[in-house]
Amino acid sequence: MYELVKVSEKCYYIESPSKVGIYKQNENDVYLIDSGSDKNSAKKTLKICNENGFNIKGIINTHAHADHIGGNAYIKQKTGCDIFCSSIDRPFLEFPIINPLHIYGGYIPKEMEHKFFLAEKSVTKDISSPHFPKELKTFDISGHSLGMIAIVTDDNIAFVGDIVSSEDIIKKYGITYLLDIKKHLESLDFVYNMHADKFIMSHVMTVDDIKPLININRDKIFEICDLILSLLKEPLTFEVLLKKLFYHYELKMSIKQHSLVGSTVRSYLSYLKNEGKIDAIIDDNMIYWKTI
Ligand SMILES: [Zn+2]
Repeated sequence: MYELVKVSEKCYYIESPSKVGIYKQNENDVYLIDSGSDKNSAKKTLKICNENGFNIKGIINTHAHADHIGGNAYIKQKTGCDIFCSSIDRPFLEFPIINPLHIYGGYIPKEMEHKFFLAEKSVTKDISSPHFPKELKTFDISGHSLGMIAIVTDDNIAFVGDIVSSEDIIKKYGITYLLDIKKHLESLDFVYNMHADKFIMSHVMTVDDIKPLININRDKIFEICDLILSLLKEPLTFEVLLKKLFYHYELKMSIKQHSLVGSTVRSYLSYLKNEGKIDAIIDDNMIYWKTI
């Protein structure tokens, strides 16, 4: 953990629970791609950069989830570097409380005031800013979050954030966090057709060919859709549906899991309703979901 791995002439990453990518712009200057999960990992990132003579000019966040922006504040404080993200993610970085509120769908109980959901605030610049490094291209790969971007370097390395989960994580958790299912499926197709020499993901081993991983992730989404459709042959309230999904995937209920998996299941319900496959029936002041 926390060792520097070289992947190309100009690119590296720091192996850690939430990888930090490094793009070397010239002999001394580097841009970080994401900043790790917290202050502790930021300290380790800074140490590695110092040991290798890397001057951190900026951080580019693939998206606004706390485990990707958690090191921003500390690294900014120590280096004064710029912090870039997509325009729609800027409010999430500037006012991080929005992140758990939007996952929870209301004001949060104390259990959600956790570094997994809530990072320190960052002052940001837009990726369209003239200060953004010209050697890097960005692409919209939203769906897992509102504003996730892929960053492709001029030596053809693609940093693709949380576009996919590993097979192990999918097996362990069954339902991994997604916001907009339709857009995420489109982003999976987009990345499937990208031509890069290597794909660097935050929580998955680096690969030359991302297609097999995308297929596994796409199949899982279709499996979850089919499971929800089969459960909704009888009308179910959201809570009962969620309970059945927790039993099916052997998940352990808690306020955090109810919020995270619940948010994703609400997104699946919206997707299936918008696709005309299910409907919401109101009876006795309760909403029941049912296949059409
Ligand atoms: Zn994420």
